[in-house]
Amino acid sequence: MAQPVDNIVIVGAGQAGGRAAEALRGRGYRGSITMIGEELHPPYERPQLSKGMLLSADAPVAYIKQARDWNETLGVRLETGAPAVDCDAERRIVSTADGRCFPYDHLLLATGTRPRRLAALEDAPLEVQYLRNVEDALRFRRHIEARSRIVIVGGGVVGLEAACAAAKNGCRVTVIESEARLLARAFPTLVSDLVAAAHRSQGVEFVFGATVSGSTSNSVRLSNGTEIAADLVLVGIGVIPSDDLAERLGLPIAGGIAVDACGRTAVSGIFCAGDAALQWSRCHGRAIRVETWANAQNQAIAVAANMIGETREYNDPPWFWTDQYDLNIQVAGDMRDADHIARGDPTSAKFSVIAMRGSEIVGALSVNAAKDMAMLRRIIAANARPQRADLESPTYDLRAALRPQ
Ligand SMILES: Cc1cc2nc3c(=O)[nH]c(=O)nc-3n(C[C@H](O)[C@H](O)[C@H](O)COP(=O)(O)OP(=O)(O)OC[C@H]3O[C@@H](n4cnc5c(N)ncnc54)[C@H](O)[C@@H]3O)c2cc1C
Repeated sequence: MAQPVDNIVIVGAGQAGGRAAEALRGRGYRGSITMIGEELHPPYERPQLSKGMLLSADAPVAYIKQARDWNETLGVRLETGAPAVDCDAERRIVSTADGRCFPYDHLLLATGTRPRRLAALEDAPLEVQYLRNVEDALRFRRHIEARSRIVIVGGGVVGLEAACAAAKNGCRVTVIESEARLLARAFPTLVSDLVAAAHRSQGVEFVFGATVSGSTSNSVRLSNGTEIAADLVLVGIGVIPSDDLAERLGLPIAGGIAVDACGRTAVSGIFCAGDAALQWSRCHGRAIRVETWANAQNQAIAVAANMIGETREYNDPPWFWTDQYDLNIQVAGDMRDADHIARGDPTSAKFSVIAMRGSEIVGALSVNAAKDMAMLRRIIAANARPQRADLESPTYDLRAALRPQ
């Protein structure tokens, strides 16, 4: 018979950790909850770090709750400022870098990811930064206000949102992208081109097909021999999972901490949620890490339920959005290796693209078409199979795809 659970420890006080703690209480769990976070902050949401917080000096940090409310309102013991560095799975005890020990019945790893570092700029004579936490955002904001010359390495979502904020504030911005176009893994070419055009119209310059090979105190050197003047380099070349603790525990890791649909790892009593978790995706046909706000919230909520004895599988298709200038772009599922069907006029800056493999819809992207996306997410989640000819028709009402045939 399953042991009663009345002591839960959450490692990682980020979005997934915070939402899991809330969900535990929301589902009636009355036992102890301790949340260990290496940052000094209580849990907050990160999308604002590259959006509102860069665009306005007044934008607040998107805390899920203020620090005292975790304890006073939810009864969650929040232990911030030191990472968990070890775990004895036999005795079920987690220990932190400052020597404290926390026993648990069930443990949730919600350790997220950290920025992939750019070796060519380690110990650079030039100022180099990454964008993952509040302090990073405030630091970048100061450079924006100083109208710095900014080189951004990596034309991914975070780098492009930072480029957008910097360009809007009059900075000289150059984006270095090793691929031939922007966001090649998630965007069809026409959307990459649309985004690049929006940036260029604000003065952002791009260098494609090049990487950074080094720097001087006021410039960045590229693999193609070009030198670009810079006061600051922002590196946005992706993230790696924070899996040190999982590694010490001997958990299976394959670019993420492997979990089943309920968030269970291979060790009894240990679960994982959020960016760090490697979970099955039907759309991708393989296990992936899902680095999105929606997953950090909704998968964590489902995993919390499983930690207290419910059985709740999480299968939502991955979904994220990005805001750049007047473009709101949303992507669900997997756009790669699929036939693309356009809905609406791609030259109008309001359209969607649906990705199909055979009769299955595996992905969708919308540009300024949030209503379409809301339906497409439901269609993908339900694995509904509307006719391709219907999808190609601009007058087809997507709601019909969800009606029983
Ligand atoms: C700048 C930026 C913009 C983004 N914009 C969007 C967006 O527009 N849309 C979208 O869908 N997604 C966006 N995301 C992604 C989204 O924010 C992440 O998917 C989400 O934050 C993941 O939550 P998490 O709790 O799994 O991980 P995190 O938010 O990374 O939190 C993990 C926490 O665990 C802590 N930690 C790690 N190891 C330990 C340890 N050993 N002990 C204690 N604590 C530890 C970390 O310090 C961190 O505080 C953005 C991310 C960034 C960085």
